Amino acid sequence: MPKREIRESRAIVTGASSGIGRAVALELSRQGADVVVTARREDRLRTLAEEISSGRGRVAIVPGDITDPRTRQAAIEAARSEFGGLDALVNNAGVGALGLFEDAAPERVRHIMDVNFFALVEMTRTALPLLKEGINPIVVNISSILGHRGAPYSSEYSASKFAVQGFSEAIRAEFTRHRIDVLVVSPGTTQTEFFDSVVERVGEPTWPEHTAVTAEDVARRIVKAMRKGRHEIVPYGWGKVLCWLNRLSPAMVDRIMARYV
Ligand code: NDP
Repeated sequence: MPKREIRESRAIVTGASSGIGRAVALELSRQGADVVVTARREDRLRTLAEEISSGRGRVAIVPGDITDPRTRQAAIEAARSEFGGLDALVNNAGVGALGLFEDAAPERVRHIMDVNFFALVEMTRTALPLLKEGINPIVVNISSILGHRGAPYSSEYSASKFAVQGFSEAIRAEFTRHRIDVLVVSPGTTQTEFFDSVVERVGEPTWPEHTAVTAEDVARRIVKAMRKGRHEIVPYGWGKVLCWLNRLSPAMVDRIMARYV
C-alpha cells in the first residue's frame, strides 16, 4: 500500500534543466503530478516544459539562480498560483569541483556550499508554510554517496553533502509534527552533465572503472521511494558497498582512498 499518491500531487524540482532533476520532473509528470521546474538555463526548461505538456502534464517554469531568494520565492509562488499548493519539494540543484583542497581558493567552498547547502536550506524554509498545507507532503533532498564518506579531490563537495545529510536528519524529526516526510537520496556515479559542469577541475583521481547508472533509473527509484514514504535511499550498488565498508572499517577505507592521491 503506497504511502502517497503521486497522481494529482504538486511538486517543485530544482536543478531540472538536466540530469537527475530533469528525469525526476519527467517521472513525476508521467505519474500524474503537476511540476514547477527551476534552474538557470531557461532554454532547457522550455524544452522540458514542451515535453511534459505534450504528455498532457501541467508544468510551470521558473528560470533563475537557486542561490537568489527571488528565484526560490518565485518557485513557491508558481506552485501556489498555478497549482493551488505544494506537496513535494525536490531539492536537487547541485554542483561539484574536482581538485585537492590545498590547490583551491576559498571561493570554491563558498560557491559549493551556497548551491548545495544554503540554497537547499533556504528553499526548504521558504516552502515550509505551503508544504504544511499540502497533501502527504514530502521534502526530497538529493545528497550523494560522498555525504556518507568523504573522498579526496572532492573535499568541499563531500562537506556540502554531509551538511545536507545532517540537516535532513534533524528536520525529519522536527517535521513529524507537521506530518512532512523527509527523504534523502544518495546517488553514486550517474550519467549526467555533472562532471562537465564542475565549478573547477584541477587534477582528478584515477578511480577504478565503475559503471554509471542512468538519470532515468535514479529518478524512477526516487519517485518510488517518495510513494513508499522511505527516509533514505542509495540508488547505486557500489555506493551501498562503500557505505557498508566504511561503517565496518573507516581506517581501511582511509587507506584505500589515500592510494588515489
Ligand atoms: P547536472 O549537472 O546534470 O544537473 C545539475 C542541475 O543543477 C542542473 O539543472 C543545473 O541547472 C542546476 N544548478 C546548478 N547550479 C545552479 C544554480 N546556481 N542555480 C540553479 N540551478 C543550478 O548534474 P546531476 O543531475 O548529476 O546533479 C543533480 C544532483 O545529484 C546534484 O545535487 C548532485 O550533487 C547529485 N549527485 C550527482 C551524482 C552524479 O554522479 N551525477 C552523484 C551523486 C550526487 P542550470 O545549470 O541550468 O542552472
